[in-house]
Parts: sequence; structure tokens; C-alpha cells
Amino acid sequence: MQQKPYFCPNCRSNRVKFSVISNYSQRFLKDAITGEVQEMSEPAPIEQAEPEIQCLVCSFVGNELRFIKQAEREPRAMTQTNPTYM
Ligand SMILES: [Zn+2]
Repeated sequence: MQQKPYFCPNCRSNRVKFSVISNYSQRFLKDAITGEVQEMSEPAPIEQAEPEIQCLVCSFVGNELRFIKQAEREPRAMTQTNPTYM
């Protein structure tokens, strides 16, 4: 995952709460007659160039780049901290 701001391109209200969707590979041995699973290996993550990200506000799932691009298009506005009263 990249160290860049995300912004959900679907609901456009979430920059904070996300989930990363990972694919895992898990080997197992099956009994040829009964179909019973006999041995299960530890799950091993499959390396992905671009992870899939889910927005936890609207449940939209998309490639990480879509969230990054949306954040670049609409950067978080800095709050003004120098009010003038004149
Ligand atoms: Zn969303």
C-alpha cells in the first residue's frame, strides 16, 4: 500500500476508514474417496502490485489508485487558522 491520502471516489465523504482486500493461497490435501480435507497449510498472502481497497462508509471496492487519484483531484482543504477581525 502506498503512503498517500485516499479519498473514496464513490461516496466522496471518507478519507479515513478503509479496508484492504487481500488474496491468500492456502494449500490442502483432500481424501480422494471421502472428499475430506486432511491437511491444511498456513495461508500465504499473494503479492499484488495494486491492492484493492474498500471504503468502510459505503462499501465501495476499487483499486488503490482510484482512491489515490480521487484524493489528488480533491485534496483535503486546510482549515484556516489565521482569522482576521478587521
Ligand atoms: Zn465510500
